[in-house]
Amino acid sequence: MAPPGAGARRGAGDDGGVHCSEVRTAVSARLDGEEPPPGVPGPVVGAHLEGCAPCREWQERARRLKVLAAGLDLG
Ligand SMILES: [Zn+2]
Repeated sequence: MAPPGAGARRGAGDDGGVHCSEVRTAVSARLDGEEPPPGVPGPVVGAHLEGCAPCREWQERARRLKVLAAGLDLG
């Protein structure tokens, strides 16, 4: 059993002023092959993902959904 609070010192949404919601918007855009929104360049997104486990999980889920959707959308 892990003690409460272990490894949770980095606050989500506190990476150089970029918020989780902005990072997720950029990740979604990238998955769609679109340009990331202004103000959220790739390196910032990558750095945030490294320090934010919830956003990494969100990215994984979004990618899986994308693959699923692509498979269903063949035609
Ligand atoms: Zn985040």
